[in-house]
Amino acid sequence: MTQTNFTDKQIKVAIVSNGNYHSRGIAHKLFTTLRDDDDFYLTKRYPDVVISIGGDGMLLSAFHMYERSLDNIRFVGIHTGHLGFYTDYRDFEVDTLLENLRSDKGEKISYPILSVKTTLSDGRILTSRALNEATIKRLEKTMVADVIVNDIKFESFRGDGLSVSTPTGSTAYNKSLGGAVLHPTIEALQLTEIASLNNRVFRTLGSPLIVPKHETIEVIPRRLGTYVITIDNKTYKHRDVVKIEFEIDRKKIHFLGSENHTSFWERVRDAFIGELDDEI
Ligand code: NAP
Ligand code: MN
Repeated sequence: MTQTNFTDKQIKVAIVSNGNYHSRGIAHKLFTTLRDDDDFYLTKRYPDVVISIGGDGMLLSAFHMYERSLDNIRFVGIHTGHLGFYTDYRDFEVDTLLENLRSDKGEKISYPILSVKTTLSDGRILTSRALNEATIKRLEKTMVADVIVNDIKFESFRGDGLSVSTPTGSTAYNKSLGGAVLHPTIEALQLTEIASLNNRVFRTLGSPLIVPKHETIEVIPRRLGTYVITIDNKTYKHRDVVKIEFEIDRKKIHFLGSENHTSFWERVRDAFIGELDDEI
């Protein structure tokens, strides 16, 4: 390390990478380039910019590593496979990223994230933030729960579980659950059912529900037991969940704004539809 202390003009950069051989090679290249450049200061603590190398999954991990200081950070993703949803740069575009960082004027693109508050029967209240989604499922038997939307008792759910997704998470698990793909500038949450049972007693809407900013979704389990709560790529087991509340967080995730920021619809097309055959 040639750097000892940083000046106000330097951009503080953290590089995080998955264990993939190729990702580590890119991380090494970035590390040596930025280390020898006076415009940058490499640090894992209090960075201005976090460069995540890997896939969308790696960016989820980077988000959780730095979720306590989201206000001061801009994320940027380099994808070592196909182009992802949170990753603006491909592995061969490292030089473009370096150029963009050198001419950086602090531009950013911000997207909503999810706030999750879990109340347990022993009185503990756990709060978390999700970038993609949070889900609740019951471990034994089917989950029976009341769903309250903005203080209105909406439905009695019976089934495997429920998922609440952010707009950027709408292309992940939410989509597999039959949810809609939501443009990330729409500040709303999406509630989707995971295998609901419908009969005379338990009746659910059966279609995804899109809830606006400032409105809350509450899930109140009706049975004691063990519940599995997932927050993005993390899984927690809790006994006797009293309530779980979801709303759009007051904080957002910021990404480095640049010309490389691919249009959302282009990403959706490339990820799920692929090449269009004009001949037909
Ligand atoms: P993983 O099981 O290794 O990967 C899940 C896949 O989802 C990966 O291909 C990942 O892309 C992709 N992905 C992640 N975020 C996405 C987004 N916002 N839009 C489109 N695709 C996205 O787990 P992981 O990589 O740690 O990701 C955790 C996420 O997996 C969860 O947040 C959940 O959304 C998703 N998941 C999906 C299902 C399902 O569809 N049935 C079930 C469980 C979890 P990369 O290859 O670029 O990393
Ligand atoms: Mn992954």
